Amino acid sequence: LSDRTNSFTDSVIRRMTRIAMKYDAVNLSQGFPDFDPPREILDRLAQVAYKGPHQYAVTWGAQNFREALAEKQSALMGRTIDPNSEIVATCGSTEAMMAAMMTVANPGDKVVVFSPFYENYGADAILSGAEPIYVSLKPPAFQFDVDELEAAFKQRPKALILCNPSNPCGKVFTREELLTIAEMATRYDVYVITDEVYEHILYAPNQHTYFAALPGMWNRTITCSSLSKTYSITGWRLGYIIAPAEIIDRAKKVHDFLTVGCAAPLMEAVVPALRFGPEYYADLQEKYTRKRDLFLGGLDAMGIPHTDPQGAYYVLLDISEYGYDSDLQFCKSLAREVGVAAVPGSSFFREDVNHLIRLHFAKRDDTLNEALNRLESMR
Ligand code: GLN
Repeated sequence: LSDRTNSFTDSVIRRMTRIAMKYDAVNLSQGFPDFDPPREILDRLAQVAYKGPHQYAVTWGAQNFREALAEKQSALMGRTIDPNSEIVATCGSTEAMMAAMMTVANPGDKVVVFSPFYENYGADAILSGAEPIYVSLKPPAFQFDVDELEAAFKQRPKALILCNPSNPCGKVFTREELLTIAEMATRYDVYVITDEVYEHILYAPNQHTYFAALPGMWNRTITCSSLSKTYSITGWRLGYIIAPAEIIDRAKKVHDFLTVGCAAPLMEAVVPALRFGPEYYADLQEKYTRKRDLFLGGLDAMGIPHTDPQGAYYVLLDISEYGYDSDLQFCKSLAREVGVAAVPGSSFFREDVNHLIRLHFAKRDDTLNEALNRLESMR
């Protein structure tokens, strides 16, 4: 079998979901909601069940899906996005990121990755033959050092991967930080591949800046995102890439041969959500702000040190005081003995980090309270 498939493990995030199921633990590991998607799209899905479509959509994504998405993102990103030439629909942001990497990087090319990072980027790099150069985001604010970033750019990478809002640390990059990256990307002629799946999950006063919308950045940005988190439909596997036509032309070819296309009935059913007005997104933020307050408040009451997310729905807990050498062992015991599933922090860090675990709070309040009660039993 190939050396390539021998050089990375299965996803620890997704492995923890299987462990959670085995022990019937409250699953706060893999980040997905346990509440329903918006009613409008469920109603539409019911209609679609009988009226179709049930056959392949156009490979790049159903026309009305791309049109509705282009309209929504044009308003947010401050430019008119062409649904035909500047969008390709993908099976989640997972496929979008993989296709983006394969679109820009030749085997042996370097890509800059901030650490901590979302687990998939490591495997994406291996599968596309790219070599990551890591730049640390330093706690507690998870800021990068400009000189360290410049040193990475000096190695002539092809692309930089930007997860904003950031999983797992919850950082929302400020406009100034993004402008620093933009200036270097221009000077060293580097593409920026973004992962903006938490673009609508932010805590005041933080605001999301689309990298592609910064002055001069449209031409070098490959925006990847998904509908999973925004509409609580992680199982529908709907994502997309937005980029200039010459880049999308290439990404379309990768997508064509990787997956052919997304599920046609689901693209059809989600269209009403893509047409929601601003109140939907305001409600989503309010809902997640309440969940964050409930969950972090519970951790504070137990005196467990943790990060303070500015966006996304993850929190890193410091488990130093429990005296484990391995965060994976800690997470396995936590699932088995306490009944709460978490992701070991080491899955996200380039640095040797063993004292952190990641929990998420995209769950119903009763689920979060149950998890907090179980964690309390650990004290
Ligand atoms: N982004 C989610 C997480 O970090 C998982 C997404 C996935 O498993 N595809 O938990």
